[in-house]
This record gives sequence, C-alpha cells and structure tokens, in this order.
Amino acid sequence: MRYHSTRSLVQQLTSREAVLQGLAADGGLFVTDELPELHIDPASLTGGYAGAARRVLGTLLPDFSAEEIAGAVEAAYGNTFADPAVTPVTKIGSMHLLELYHGPTAAFKDVALQMLPQLMSRALAGTGRRLVIATATSGDTGKAALEGFADVPGIGIAVFYPDGGVSAIQRLQMATQKGVNVEVAALRGNFDDAQSAVKALFASPLKAELAARNITLTSANSINIGRLAPQVVYYFDAYRQLTEAGVIRQGERIDFCVPTGNYGDVLAGWFAKTLGLPVRRLIVASNANHVLSDFLETGVYDRRRDLVRTSSPSMDILVSS
Ligand SMILES: *Cc1c(COP(=O)(O)O)cnc(C)c1O
Repeated sequence: MRYHSTRSLVQQLTSREAVLQGLAADGGLFVTDELPELHIDPASLTGGYAGAARRVLGTLLPDFSAEEIAGAVEAAYGNTFADPAVTPVTKIGSMHLLELYHGPTAAFKDVALQMLPQLMSRALAGTGRRLVIATATSGDTGKAALEGFADVPGIGIAVFYPDGGVSAIQRLQMATQKGVNVEVAALRGNFDDAQSAVKALFASPLKAELAARNITLTSANSINIGRLAPQVVYYFDAYRQLTEAGVIRQGERIDFCVPTGNYGDVLAGWFAKTLGLPVRRLIVASNANHVLSDFLETGVYDRRRDLVRTSSPSMDILVSS
C-alpha cells in the first residue's frame, strides 16, 4: 500500500514515510487510492475504542507492525482521556452526540494529536533522523499538539498563534506548556497569516539547512495522514457503540453532522465511508467563514472576503489546506 501527493503520482511513499513528511514536496497532501479495497466490516470490531483504533490504524498504516500500533494506541489513549470510552456517544433528544472532548486539553483535536507523536516517534526509531514540527493554530491545534509532542524523544515543536486571535484560556494553555522541546510564539495577523508564515517556512532555505543535519521540518496541521487516520477511528467506534447499544441495526446507514473548518475531520468521515462504514450523509456545519461550503456549492473558491472573528475561532479559516 502506497501514499502519493494529491498533486502527482510520481512519489509513492510508505505510510511511515508519509507520516514523517506530513506535506508532500509539491504542496499536496498524501492520499492513497486503495481505500475501497481495504474494506473494514464494523460488525467485526471488538475490544472497545482501543480495538477499533488498532484495526483502523493497522489498515491505514500497514507498514507499522501490530506491536507498534498496539503500543501507540496504549500510549495515546491508555490513561490520557477522562472517559473510559475515550469518545463516548450520548443521546440528545432524537439525535446522538459523539463526545470528542475528554482528552487532556478538552479539544477534539486531542484524539488525533495524542496519536500523531506516537506514530512519528515509532517511524523515527533507529533511523538517526529527528523532526521539528512547525504548526499554526487558531487556538485548539496548538495546545493539543504541544500536549501530544511534549518531551517526545527526537522531536521538537514550535507553535505560532495569531496575537489576539485565540481565547484567553487557549493563550494561557499554550503559554504555560511544560516540556524541554516546546516553543510558542504569537504572530501579528490572523490565523491565515500564521498559516501562511508556517507554509513559507517549509518553502524557505531553513528546510534544506535542517535536512543537512538530518532533521526533517514537518507539520502537525490536519494535512498529515498520521493525524487524519486516528480521526477515522471514532467514526467506526461511534457506529460500534450505536449497534452495541441497540440504537441501530448492523448495516443500517447513519448520518454524521460535523463542525467544519479545514474539512480535516469530515475528510476522515469520508475515509470511513469509503472504507465501508454504512454512512448515508456527511453533513458539514460551517460558521460565518463558509468559504469551503460556498466552494462546494458553486465550484469557485473565492477567498476575497474578510475573515469574521466568531465564538468558534477554530473554524475561522479562509485559506484551507
Ligand atoms: C479544529 C476545529 C474545528 C475544525 O476542524 P477541521 O478538521 O479543520 O474541519 C472545528 N471545531 C473545533 C472545536 C475545532 O477545534
């Protein structure tokens, strides 16, 4: 099984290498064409959240050994989440809520960002390579990434957030982060400016200078397949919980409605559907910065508009990955 850039078929990478590189050299994201053949039957999932995680991650990242995946799952979810179900499904009226907020920073991004460093450190082990993570944040990614990467051997992390563009709690969460390998900086501008600054770093001579010292500059933004794959898990696990609770029959199709900024999370839902999860509709929920839903409706990506600061800053995005 190989991963290639969304912009070319030339480079064919293993999942280990795709996790380490994050973003393809041509600016594309790493994807695979083999999802439909990989088929995961939700009826075959056993062993709670950890079991679902081992199965889905083992399928999407097949050149990690079963021991590596099991170790990563235990380190990421073994005792870091406040709820034993990790991401419990609860009933609200006639609908159900997938509670993704029981992780160490209370952001849903913990689910992915507790796992990504575990995958990266296992892919690095024995290679002599080191990683530097540079990440822009609109509030939630930064703290969740810092928490996931803090003191992970062989990896350093720098987080850039827009000055005044994150909540007071998010700023304090980041500014007080513990760890020998973490740096946090505020940039003048909005999230898109911070994201552009980080993307410019990737295109700058710094990348080659680090490479000469066997250090790979990479990202923890939602463009990394090692961050997307752990999100596919909770779509399958939500379905498992609903069938085990007798809410739905095995094979019955369900809808997911997903709050959406960069479309990373809902892309994971599409991966799940393509892998065979009985999903009827994926409904995207936007806030006032609905450039991507406009794009899907009109076919035109028109970013010539002002960024609106909302009470959901993690969705305040105009320049999507
Ligand atoms: C990051 C974030 C989003 C947007 O997620 P995407 O994967 O970029 O679509 C939405 N809501 C919250 C609370 C977030 O932290």
